Amino acid sequence: MDKKELRKKFKDLRESLSEKEWFEYSKSICQKLIDSSFFKNSQRIAFYYPVNKEVNLTIAIEEALKQGKEIFLPKTHLKEKRLSFHKVTDLARLSPGVFGIFEPPSIDSPIEACELDLILVPGLAFDLKKYRLGYGGGFYDRFLKETKALKIGIAFSFQIIEKLPQDPWDEKMDYILTEEGFF
Ligand code: ADP
Ligand code: MG
Repeated sequence: MDKKELRKKFKDLRESLSEKEWFEYSKSICQKLIDSSFFKNSQRIAFYYPVNKEVNLTIAIEEALKQGKEIFLPKTHLKEKRLSFHKVTDLARLSPGVFGIFEPPSIDSPIEACELDLILVPGLAFDLKKYRLGYGGGFYDRFLKETKALKIGIAFSFQIIEKLPQDPWDEKMDYILTEEGFF
């Protein structure tokens, strides 16, 4: 299957997840993340805010804020096909942006990609070599090539496939985290 067909397949798979499974698996992923040395050793963390049935990391965001870490969420710039990450201190202050995705207020200038310690990357699917299938805009590929931060792909275990088609611009993750753990 090519990337386009795989995107359709994994979107459908994700939509078939029940609300209860979505919530329980997300909770388990948050706990594994919070207990990890990657989380403990990171002060500046880029999260994402979930759309549709993406893994919900809200519990981990709240925990990071409680521990005094700095957290950043993406804004999507559609015309330039790029992301910028802005500091967030309160999830109640987000508002809907492009595609209805909740975004941080843009009063502050964005953090430079090289200043982040850890980036949690959403995706439609990941493979065993830790390559990622996104929504088809290449937004994360463009952002990730600017950073040396640790990159962890976040997904449910049914989003893991043995091998994805790989293009020269596709960025590789350092680890993948699912409800079954890290690999
Ligand atoms: P996704 O990563 O969202 O699954 P693709 O990997 O298929 O999507 O990339 C989508 C488009 O983005 C490609 O046509 C590619 O040309 C473009 N692209 C990806 N990364 C870069 C980059 N670093 N610089 C310029 N264009 C890029
Ligand atoms: Mg890509």
